[in-house]
Amino acid sequence: MPPLVPINSLARHFSPFFSELSAAATGAIESGHYVLGPRVQGFEVEFAEYCGVSDCVGVANGTDALELSLKAVGVGPGDKVALCANAAMYATSATLACGASPLFIDVDPTDGLMSPEVLRHTLASVQTAPKAILATHLYGKLCDMEQLLTIAEEASIPLIEDCAQAHGASRGGKRAGSFGDIASFSFYPTKNLGALGDGGAVVTNTPKLASLVRQLRQYGWSGKYENSISGGRNSRLDEIQATMLSLLLPHLDSWNAARRSVATRYAREIRNAKIRLPSVGGDDHVAHLFVIQVEDRESFRAFLAEKCIQTEVHYPRPDHRQPCFGTLYADVNLPNTESACERFVTLPCFPELFDDEIQRVIQACNAY
Ligand SMILES: *Cc1c(COP(=O)(O)O)cnc(C)c1O
Repeated sequence: MPPLVPINSLARHFSPFFSELSAAATGAIESGHYVLGPRVQGFEVEFAEYCGVSDCVGVANGTDALELSLKAVGVGPGDKVALCANAAMYATSATLACGASPLFIDVDPTDGLMSPEVLRHTLASVQTAPKAILATHLYGKLCDMEQLLTIAEEASIPLIEDCAQAHGASRGGKRAGSFGDIASFSFYPTKNLGALGDGGAVVTNTPKLASLVRQLRQYGWSGKYENSISGGRNSRLDEIQATMLSLLLPHLDSWNAARRSVATRYAREIRNAKIRLPSVGGDDHVAHLFVIQVEDRESFRAFLAEKCIQTEVHYPRPDHRQPCFGTLYADVNLPNTESACERFVTLPCFPELFDDEIQRVIQACNAY
């Protein structure tokens, strides 16, 4: 049996940094500051600069970042949020946490991103406009922000970017998180920029929104024990994770380049009429996941498993078909979303993948 080609390896990813990370953690431990201290502030400045925005607010995780972004643009109980149903309930969960509900927009069948045409059509046909549009840069690929922004501006609806899979993706010199009104990031360890635990951030070019998120992440406080706005939570970033992130941020671009080079090799060398490849290679795709489409997914996955190659499915069940909803969305049909959930398969694609592993994945796909 050949060694396993893993879908991801955090041990490989972080091991070159173990001693630096340990020293940084020790510094944080010995500093006497543990939550929302100088290391969080430092990372916020660095990450805002990296994204090309005025403000960054560190929070506890990416789902909270979404929820607080939604609340900052005014989403509350009874409101609707336009979003896609093919990203593991992240956007939907955050929407539900605001007391709002999803207005599902079908995706483009080729890349699984929000379809501007469907969005335009939906906005024209609903009685009550959604309070926000939430676009997810899925698998590391930027959405068609030009079109989405035009639609959002015409309808005067704020546009939120979910950048949890797209740290550093750029188009026309602008980075993910700098296009919409406000944007969320996750620093879960497997993300393109990951901490060694949970973490997240909200970025924006509107200081007013940033200051709302700063209040919302800490009980709605305007000052100590002064709860000025409703919807506040406890969602803070801690000093140890912030210092990990500051140490790792300078490596993000080279990791993204390494991911992109794996993805472009796959795109160039996988040749099989049964496999539909994503379009990769541009700066607007940071190859968080390399997702292909095959008709008979289970037989494909079994074929690769026999060759000791791990695959994954991102994501098998669309939000509107999740058991928690019962029959609530039984009459909602999203043909492209549903077919994506049946046919999409993820191949190993991470910066530390070895050359011979890439070769084995390509050979296995071509032999299928
Ligand atoms: C991971 C992820 C999230 C959630 O981030 P957490 O830190 O796990 O809460 C949200 N949206 C997308 C697209 C993600 O990939």
